[in-house]
Amino acid sequence: MKTFRIALIATAMAVVAVPSTAVAAPEDDAVRELADTAAELVAEEQALLRTTDQASRLRVVDGTGTMLLEQFDELDVRLTAATRAALSPLPAEGAGFAPPSQVYDAALDDLMRISATPSAVLPTESGSSGPALGLLAVAAMSLLVLGAAALANSLRRESDGELAAMAWSDGLTGLANRRRLDHDLETHQLDDESIAAIMVDVDHFKSINDRFGHQEGDEVLRRIASMLAAHVRYDDVVYRYGGEEFCILLPGATHDDAVGVANRIVEAARTIILPDDTHLTVSAGVAHVDDADAATTVESADRALIAAKTAGRDRMIDAASIALEPA
Ligand code: GH3
Ligand code: MG
Ligand code: MG
Repeated sequence: MKTFRIALIATAMAVVAVPSTAVAAPEDDAVRELADTAAELVAEEQALLRTTDQASRLRVVDGTGTMLLEQFDELDVRLTAATRAALSPLPAEGAGFAPPSQVYDAALDDLMRISATPSAVLPTESGSSGPALGLLAVAAMSLLVLGAAALANSLRRESDGELAAMAWSDGLTGLANRRRLDHDLETHQLDDESIAAIMVDVDHFKSINDRFGHQEGDEVLRRIASMLAAHVRYDDVVYRYGGEEFCILLPGATHDDAVGVANRIVEAARTIILPDDTHLTVSAGVAHVDDADAATTVESADRALIAAKTAGRDRMIDAASIALEPA
């Protein structure tokens, strides 16, 4: 069990880009210790969910997760939706309704990132964000928590409204899907708050399918989804835009926040190793446009993404740095 846990944590560390560390404050040590404890626990719960005969241990682990979540909240640590889902109590129905394994992978990525740079997750003056997309993030989280495996069971019991909500998740990755994005873009109110967008497209993904097969291609997409989920804050939403393209909406993020996230995503993609020991790359476009609605911001990010492709791939381009033609 221990070896398994260490292997999982090592895997999580492999897909986390570790930015340069700042001067350590005493609070950092508390956050780091909490993140390390939580990572061990999340790995153990993930392993226990694969077995059927350890229900009592699972209950203990589940209870400890709730306690750790409270401690994170007391310290005001920003956690991703995946980490919250992994540490939250399991539904009464038990293991069959637990979050899918990729949520635990994403949570481990997040906890390793927190452990490496605790100061980056402590609250800042400008850290607050409005309710509109916060609620969407909660919806996205519940979709992640349900997961594809539990979907069939849930369908029988849910109301029409909840059924519609489930049709908003992507079956392969557990992320919010394109339909959800279109809905969110339509309903986002300009006066809610400013918003940033990042578009991410995997480089030469067709050749990954060609070289290693479609199943391995699917697995790479799931790993990218976990990596993206591990790099955003609780209020941000990651969508599978289509195929090997992803969109992230970051409500309330500053321009610098969004550029930082996009840079870290491009770096982290390079640590995803393919079966022939080469590594993956992605291109990204980021936009934070003053007084623009969410749909216009996504369009700008998309044009920046195309510029990143044209400039040679494996890079991030900021829409503010290129002369944009009128749409
Ligand atoms: P570029 O660097 O220009 O983005 O090149 P690319 O090969 O990534 O882009 P292209 O649009 O030519 O190919 C995208 C490929 O993604 C083609 C399609 O078969 C594959 N793809 C789309 N959805 C899925 C999926 O769900 N699973 C798998 N395995 N492949 C997919
Ligand atoms: Mg591509
Ligand atoms: Mg594409």
